[in-house]
Amino acid sequence: MNLAIYLHIPYCLHKCGYCDFNSHPENAKEASHYVDALLKELEFYSETLKKYTVPTVFMGGGTPTILPPAQLKEILDKVRQNFNLTPDCEITIEANPATIKLQTLQEIREAGYNRISIGVQSFDEKELQLLERVHNEEEIHTTVKRARSAKFDNLSMDLMFALPDQTLEKWQSHLKQAIAKNPDHLSTYNLTIEPATAFFKLHEKGKICLPHEDKQLEMYETTIQVLEDAGYSQYEISNFSKPGMESQHNINYWNNGEYLGVGAGASSYLNGERFKNINLPSIYIREIVANETAIESKERLEPLEAMGETLMLGLRLLKGISIDVFEKRFQVSFQKVYGNVIEPLLTQELITLNQNRIALSRKGLFLADSVILKFMA
Ligand code: SF4
Repeated sequence: MNLAIYLHIPYCLHKCGYCDFNSHPENAKEASHYVDALLKELEFYSETLKKYTVPTVFMGGGTPTILPPAQLKEILDKVRQNFNLTPDCEITIEANPATIKLQTLQEIREAGYNRISIGVQSFDEKELQLLERVHNEEEIHTTVKRARSAKFDNLSMDLMFALPDQTLEKWQSHLKQAIAKNPDHLSTYNLTIEPATAFFKLHEKGKICLPHEDKQLEMYETTIQVLEDAGYSQYEISNFSKPGMESQHNINYWNNGEYLGVGAGASSYLNGERFKNINLPSIYIREIVANETAIESKERLEPLEAMGETLMLGLRLLKGISIDVFEKRFQVSFQKVYGNVIEPLLTQELITLNQNRIALSRKGLFLADSVILKFMA
């Protein structure tokens, strides 16, 4: 049985205006207690999860690279000591270009992190400032160069499109600059305005406006075209890779596989149960010290909910879902449960059904949210 492990580092140099992740201002004193708590939480789960094999580990945030490399190594060592990692385990670390020195990259590569995901977002200084990113364009170039020289052979970049006032030409130029860096993987997300962010207030006051939906769709179509022309395959709604360089960690999420999330605000899905830790790092630390866990909510999914989630996640993958695997997993007839949902979607050519796999069609891809919602009703 496979298990993915997610490790959350909740500190950032500055809260970006659009960010609704569980991130908090840098706090070196608290961070050292936080790492101790994280190590303790990993130990707590090790005994009960011994039967699992771990093919992927992902350290995200926040900004993991804000921690000293020695602490990043200590955390990964603890994961290795307490869980059965596969020999070719994919071990990703997220990195912000503003926090990376060459020596840091060399040390974390040596510690065993073998995949790096760099939060580039944009190659334009004005856009980076608008997003309140703490890095500049120059630091992106330097970071990619340093990551390669530190022997990160699996390098991913995150980019954002549909920013206020962004033209299609500007977005195309970002894609081309990213391609010129020869990443193995690219994630491209359109900017969304989330509640409880600084951008939400600005948007309400009319101080920032996103491009019209039609323009966003045009940008998305262009993304697929430009990246496919450059040799990247789209394997998920927002993700592209060179052959064999898909993110195995995220594929496990989209397959609705089991995962353990460790750290403040981290979510887990184990034995049909979903549970989530407390968000605030100081309270997370307190709870771990007192009780070894910091779970704030837990729910067991009803079979129909679990099936709906499996479809919701799996349809994000371009190859979709195997009906045979689905039926085996849930011991139901797919046709019996979803026959009335898939018929109209097939007629409207929003999904395809080939070799007993159900997937979004090209047309369905552009309307993914509304198509996927039909399976959740
Ligand atoms: S660096 Fe990432 S996690 Fe941190 S505030 Fe910015 S978007 Fe959020």
